[in-house]
Amino acid sequence: MLLFAPGNGRRPSQQDKPVNTPNDKSAPAPATNFLKNIIEGDIERGTYAGRHFDGTPGDAASQANAPVDVAAIRTRFPPEPNGYLHIGHAKSIWLNFGLARDYGGICHMRFDDTNPEKEEQEYVDSILDAVQWLGYTWNANGKSHLFHASDYFDFMYRAAEYLITAGLAYVDEQNAEQMRANRGTLTEAGKDSPWRNRPAEESLRLFAEMRDGKHPDGSLVLRAKIDMASPNINLRDPAIYRIRHAEHHRAGDKWCVYPMYTFAHPIEDALERITHSICTLEFEDQRPFYDWLLARLAEGGLLARPLPHQYEFSRLNLTYIMTSKRKLKQLVDDAHVTGWDDPRMPTIVGLRRRGYTPEALQLMCERTGVSKSDSWIDYSILEGALRDDLEGKAARAMVVLDPLRLKLTNWNELFGADPSEPCSAPAHPHHPEMGTRTFNLTPEVWIEREDFAEVPPKGYHRLSPPRAGADGAEIAGSMARLKYGYVIRCTGCEKDADGKVTAVLAEIVPDTKSGTPGADSVKVKGVITWVSVTEGVAAEVRLYDRLFTVPHPGAGEHDFLLDLNPNSKRVVTAWVEPGLAQAAADDKFQFERHGYFVADRKDHAPGKPVFNRTVTLRDTWQK
Ligand code: ATP
Ligand code: MG
Repeated sequence: MLLFAPGNGRRPSQQDKPVNTPNDKSAPAPATNFLKNIIEGDIERGTYAGRHFDGTPGDAASQANAPVDVAAIRTRFPPEPNGYLHIGHAKSIWLNFGLARDYGGICHMRFDDTNPEKEEQEYVDSILDAVQWLGYTWNANGKSHLFHASDYFDFMYRAAEYLITAGLAYVDEQNAEQMRANRGTLTEAGKDSPWRNRPAEESLRLFAEMRDGKHPDGSLVLRAKIDMASPNINLRDPAIYRIRHAEHHRAGDKWCVYPMYTFAHPIEDALERITHSICTLEFEDQRPFYDWLLARLAEGGLLARPLPHQYEFSRLNLTYIMTSKRKLKQLVDDAHVTGWDDPRMPTIVGLRRRGYTPEALQLMCERTGVSKSDSWIDYSILEGALRDDLEGKAARAMVVLDPLRLKLTNWNELFGADPSEPCSAPAHPHHPEMGTRTFNLTPEVWIEREDFAEVPPKGYHRLSPPRAGADGAEIAGSMARLKYGYVIRCTGCEKDADGKVTAVLAEIVPDTKSGTPGADSVKVKGVITWVSVTEGVAAEVRLYDRLFTVPHPGAGEHDFLLDLNPNSKRVVTAWVEPGLAQAAADDKFQFERHGYFVADRKDHAPGKPVFNRTVTLRDTWQK
């Protein structure tokens, strides 16, 4: 089912239902990846065996003397350094680096920095950081495979000159409007430019003048000479070089002509001896030009064979988020979030700060597979992958988010003047090797406000005071267990002048301490979490939720900002188990009953704990 063809401008509508959404709870079937079949076939047939390459990108002449490539395949991750990476990029990183690793190949980290205006060092740094955090490296066999497309500008210029000389490119003097008008339509052939058949010498001279800064932006453009009647509009003499009087963040002001993406990208792949050039589906129509260009340059002896081949897969689309850089930037600029690394952002830095792990993101990528059919992945798949990863790893802790004081009124009878009774709990219920947490039960503890009800609803198993039943007879106060501590019986509550409950009163039932013989002689259905009033630590807890309330924010052309979830962040002062005072930034926990939380990597400090809710224990959005 095709829900959303990227590049055709159609936005998904509210009716679009997510597909490819394996049930969160059941073990997902291994997802398919058609690229693996292609690579395995190529390896079997030896399509790329015997290529020469020493790890230094270069033209045919320089490759000829290089040794046989040590890598079975070469892939690349080629971001444009014009923004922060998002979860869609994580899929591309997982795919390219992962395939290289699985098949004895090498994945190149390449900055596709051919567009001078929008690129910045800040983005370069954050991209490298993100790839490494996700668990990948561009170093192999003692060599770095970090490349910059801007290093190939000299070759690209030479390649363009060759095309002109070979009668395969020309300088066009039509303005943008004329070019558009003459391009034709899907049903109508285009019209040849009046400059199409000018002599090669004339184009060569003009191209040199373009490079030398003799012409203003947009006045001349170099076009490939292919076929103005081609049914594929991308082959109707595409522009390959344009004038841009702009400073480049690496090349400085050396150039005032810059290659178009469609010209630069295949050349970058070929110079780096990429075998499998993997991109998203919107580039499918560009593949004929990719092949045309590389074949011509190989015929001219400029590029070594075998040439790279482009494969397309469908991009990752997740419900409840958006990955458009422009819209993400708007969220930051208009202060709907606190920055690119706001824990609600679908950026890698945001997900990391939210408490996502590289393993969870990999799991999500594996489960959603690689295909050519466009689909929406339900956000719950991402959250499910995180729960599955953290379940076995995160230490447990007791935390009270909405505190109500509980007074244990028979303390002195049981413990005398002793102000504390030691309790312990495993750090993880299934991993004894993770150790034991210790904390004290004290005469007053914090419990969740929702764990007390003056008039309990049906089926309520937590604390409620003695009260008169329908027949007038007294119903005893309810019993529940303080987790890892004693069974208690509720005896009443205290209220302020407005009738608001300010404290719950209860008695400890003797000889019921967890872990002692006979502890479960008194059976109770309710178990409640608690934190000592005197020993607990106050913490800022940021309760994050989805940033948007609808699966397809902005669908139907309305303003996506209208779909922002007003409750995507709620900050509370919580009481946390004393051991959490020692947590380091980035440490992840399961707060029992509440979900997974992480010590905020920016704001958490010893003595001033700050935790972010990463995800709740269960999906509360499923209808
Ligand atoms: P923009 O067009 O907004 O600048 P982009 O997604 O094209 O963003 P690039 O920096 O060109 O950004 O992307 C680097 C690589 O990541 C490309 O190969 C691209 O195909 C891939 N990629 C980007 N978004 C996704 C996605 N949602 N799913 C899978 N791959 C993606
Ligand atoms: Mg792009």
